[in-house]
Amino acid sequence: MNADPILQETLIKRSQQKKRISPLNYKERLFVLTKSRLTYYEGRSEKKHKKGSIDLQKIKCAEIVKHDSSPIPCQNKYPFQLNNLPGRDWKPSEYLPEDNEEEVAEEEEEAELVLAMYDFEAQEPHDLSLIKGEEYALLTKSDIHWWRARDKDGNEGYIPSNYVTEKKSSNLEKYEWYCKNANRSKAEYLLKSEDKEGGFLVRDSSQSGMYTVSLYTKFGGEGSIRHYHIKISETPHRLYYLAEKHLFDNIPDLIEYHQYNAAGLVTRLRYPVGRKGRHAPKTAGFSYDKWEINPSELTFMKELGSGQFGVVRLGKWRAQHKVAIKAIREGAMCEEDFIEEAKVMMKLSHPKLVQLYGVCTQQKPIYIVTEFMELGCLLNYLRQRRGQLNNEMLLSICQDVCEGMSYLETKKFIHRDLAARNCLVSESHVVKVSDFGMTRYVLDDQYTGSSGAKFPVKWSPPEVLHYSKFSSKSDVWSFGVLMWEVYNDGKMPFETKTNAEVVEFISSGFRLYRPKQASKPVYEIMNHCWHEKAEGRPCFSDLLLMINEVMEPDY
Ligand code: ADP
Repeated sequence: MNADPILQETLIKRSQQKKRISPLNYKERLFVLTKSRLTYYEGRSEKKHKKGSIDLQKIKCAEIVKHDSSPIPCQNKYPFQLNNLPGRDWKPSEYLPEDNEEEVAEEEEEAELVLAMYDFEAQEPHDLSLIKGEEYALLTKSDIHWWRARDKDGNEGYIPSNYVTEKKSSNLEKYEWYCKNANRSKAEYLLKSEDKEGGFLVRDSSQSGMYTVSLYTKFGGEGSIRHYHIKISETPHRLYYLAEKHLFDNIPDLIEYHQYNAAGLVTRLRYPVGRKGRHAPKTAGFSYDKWEINPSELTFMKELGSGQFGVVRLGKWRAQHKVAIKAIREGAMCEEDFIEEAKVMMKLSHPKLVQLYGVCTQQKPIYIVTEFMELGCLLNYLRQRRGQLNNEMLLSICQDVCEGMSYLETKKFIHRDLAARNCLVSESHVVKVSDFGMTRYVLDDQYTGSSGAKFPVKWSPPEVLHYSKFSSKSDVWSFGVLMWEVYNDGKMPFETKTNAEVVEFISSGFRLYRPKQASKPVYEIMNHCWHEKAEGRPCFSDLLLMINEVMEPDY
């Protein structure tokens, strides 16, 4: 029979964007090929709803879709395009009928719906406020950090893209208990600081693609934490479980069950900690397209420290947002170049990077306004906590820095001065990379040339020392030295050696020794970073995998 399916499969379909403002989006659709037609449906094969259909005889090859130029999501290797609209160069009559109403009766584009994970207060008239838990329709995604959206009352404006998440049911991010970026030691920190019996969260496991439930109990007096791997059955239809007798189609169902039944766990999942105890993430700038900050909207508070460029103070923007304000000392910085670059740096936004919020350039001294990091610089943090940080915490510090650097690497942005002194620590002990790319604007000769007294020789690979050749791979070398600092409580690398002695030492093939606290696998990671040749060093995304591998597995 002509109507028997030859092939049916769920494919990702790109929407046709009939309206000019509708966002580029993709949907899962069930495509069914019979001898005579190609039809596609919404939903699964048991309960499907027809969306469009086309007679095979009317299909002709118009062009081969090349998929190297346009970003196609996932691993879809074989894109194809069926077109019922007059294409730019194509004559529709050549391959598609104009008068048959049934042909590709394309669905009306529904705008993509998202849920707000955090409240957001509009800062400028072109922004849109968000209320946690409410739904918004996305209109455009032309800036990756600020999307245009519409609320249920029809108000439109820009929202921070990292404050919302897809509404579809398989998306864990919309659940309060899901804490995507927490590793084992962050999870423990969050649960301990909440200190609630049955406090729990679900996080990505150190084993990729798997999830772990971290659960806090005060049973028997002192608080303790268990980490349970969510296991997957080996049956054809994958089922999730914590306790072997209780299997579920998906993780939210599993969590719901264990919220009422301990069923083998040390206690039931009483209290989702996940997102609750955490602050909203930083936005890339305070508002869409805003990088110049009005200095009269800043108030100055205590001094935080001072560095190469000048004094850094704690302050507030519009009396509400805590920020760090760096006042640039006269003659310390090539300001014009920096101001130009600041626009690019504002777009770098990642949970493990200190966020640049904006600059005040219409006055002297100019100010650089960044995210405030309560626990200050990593080097002091390590020195002050000498002997108190366990191996898991030390590795988690390295993991944070590696994640931030991995992001910079994907953006092809070179740090050039990665070291513990250039990382900062947040209130919740998250370590973030700071001062990226800033050495390019230093005017001090002692700092810029590799023979200068202030040049970070001890953090530099041979190709930087000899040829000033900076790359993400020279950052990898510095990262190895930073790991060494972390595992030595912030000790100065190469201790008493002078810069000239260090150059000689490294050029002769010697390397830093293994810190007492570093296990062999951890020291091996450092040594990979110190490969003589840049090409021989791993990239940050590989380093991240190596670090995850060394992390203690979950139960
Ligand atoms: P520079 O870039 O001028 O060398 P730094 O960035 O090293 O200056 O800052 C000097 C000191 O000020 C740091 O060691 C740290 O103690 C403090 N500091 C800088 N930025 C922040 C921040 N965002 N939050 C908290 N403290 C900060």
